[in-house]
This record gives sequence, structure tokens and C-alpha cells, in this order.
Amino acid sequence: MENKEKQPLVQVKNLCKYFKVGRHADLKAVDNVSFDIYKGETVSLVGESGCGKSTTGRCLIRLYEPTSGEVIFDGKDVTKLTKEEQKKFCHRVQMIFQNPYASLNPRMTVREIVGEALRQHGMPAKEVEKKVQDLLETVGLNKDHMSRFAHEFSGGQRQRIGIARALSVDPEFIICDEPISALDVSIQAQVINMLKELQETRGLTYLFIAHDLSVVKYISDRVVVMYLGTIVEEAETEELYGNPSHPYTQALLSAIPEADPDKAKSNRRIAIKGEIPSPINPKNCCRFAERCQYATERCYQEMPQLREIAPGHRVACHLTEK
Ligand code: SF4
Repeated sequence: MENKEKQPLVQVKNLCKYFKVGRHADLKAVDNVSFDIYKGETVSLVGESGCGKSTTGRCLIRLYEPTSGEVIFDGKDVTKLTKEEQKKFCHRVQMIFQNPYASLNPRMTVREIVGEALRQHGMPAKEVEKKVQDLLETVGLNKDHMSRFAHEFSGGQRQRIGIARALSVDPEFIICDEPISALDVSIQAQVINMLKELQETRGLTYLFIAHDLSVVKYISDRVVVMYLGTIVEEAETEELYGNPSHPYTQALLSAIPEADPDKAKSNRRIAIKGEIPSPINPKNCCRFAERCQYATERCYQEMPQLREIAPGHRVACHLTEK
């Protein structure tokens, strides 16, 4: 995808989200994170649980107020929108949640869940009915499902209902927060394929949040890897999988099971030692140092900056400096 000439749809600039956890302690969930998302592309935000990827997504849709930094959507800072602009923003940007079991109101029928935003927007009941039917068909359900409640559906079907709800307001940008991690492996591929198809037919832009690199390969144009609140690597998908350059990315990729038995024999899994450290008042050095097999003294003294090592490929590691 040639992005150089285009203006990004979403620009995240030096985003920080800290949570106070005592008088002198900050939990730095997101710490100085910057990246762009261009119209029509899928950017995946990947990392272990606690790396700050979901908090970043929530700051983008304003479920959290950033501590500092900017989130620019279509040229406007989302923290500075007027009431009217905020209303429009809520339609243009939607979120699909991780847990399809918890994100749907158990007392509402599918008709009510998917049509809720349309009714609130004043759409006549007949039109809502028709649009809900169309949306259900779009996500592989049908009008017979309209009067049922969420608990009557399987996990995959519930996620389809969640997707239909997000699509109801004709958004342009969807934040998919681990949308398949609660689903059976056999259903995951169906949901990913459906998201890809919807992107093509509706010109959608996605931020896809996931905890492992195996699922994002087939849906992403670019991948951003986060570790303990910071970005450690970012590249186009092919480049990242072909030339992973941060020791953390290399370890994540080495953990992906290889289907080809011959290749599997030659693959060496890189174990990451220890546990992910606490994000409370982290030291001003490489946050991966305690777990990195290549760490040197410098890594414990100096925070590596995110630097471009090839066009569009940025890495934060002292090892990659020339
Ligand atoms: Fe490892 Fe040092 Fe690179 Fe951090 S900066 S990832 S500790 S080599």
C-alpha cells in the first residue's frame, strides 16, 4: 500500500495513559506511543496481555481520556471535539469487543441490540427493521434470529451480532479489540474472513488488537508490536514476518506453530525468560532488558528510541543502531 502521499485517517502522537496507583506511583499503561493508520488499511496492535494495546484502543475511541498526547481522527484532535462533532465521531468510529458473551445486553433481543443506535438516531421503526434484517444477513445471520436473545447463540454468532451492531451506524473506522480470542479456532478463521470481506465491500479501516502474531498475519497491512506500554517494532506485515528485528518480536514469531513438519524441525523457539515486569514506575531503560537474551549494560541504562531501519520499518533496540 502506497501511503506516503496520503494523509492518515488516524494519527496517534506521543500518546500516554497513566493510572494513579498511590500517591507517588503511576501505572504507565501507554507511554509515548505514536503511529498512523491510513484509510482502508488494517493495522494490528500486538503484544502480551498488559502491554497497553487495549488501553491504546480505548484512548482512540475516547473510552479513556489520554494523560497526554494527541489522537487525531480525520484531521481533528478527538479530545477537543464539540458536542456536535463528538456525535458524528461516535458514528464514524466503532468498537468490536473481545468478549461477545459480556458485550451484549442479555435482556435485549437481537432486533433491539442491532437497532439501538438507529432508533436513538430517530430512524422510523419500519426502516430500522429493514436495516437490522440487512445487517444480520451481511454478517451471516437471518431475520429469524431477530427475536432471540444473546444467550441463545454460540460464541461465533454472538460476535457476528456484535459486528452487525458496530456496522449499524455505517462507521469508517472500527477498533477490533481481540475479536476472536474468545472463539473456537474453527470459528476464528470465519470471523477474520468476514471482517476482511466487510473491509473490501465497505471500505473500512481497522485497528486490530491481538495478543499473538499468528492470527494477525492474514488480516494486517502493517503490524505494531507493543511491550510494557511502548512500541518496540512497527513494519509492513511482510517485512515484519520476514525480517523481525526486535528480540521481543523474534521471540513472539518463534512461538507460532509451523504447519509444515520439515520447517517445524528447523524452527528454533526463542523462550522469553521471566515474567512481564510491573508497569508501575518503570525504569528509564529498555523495558525488555530483564527478559532479553542480548541485553548489555547499556540496555539497563538507556531507553532505546524507535528508529527507522528500512522504509516504514521502525525498531526500538540498541542492537539495530548503526
Ligand atoms: Fe535487548 Fe538491549 Fe535491544 Fe532491549 S535494547 S531489546 S535489552 S538488546
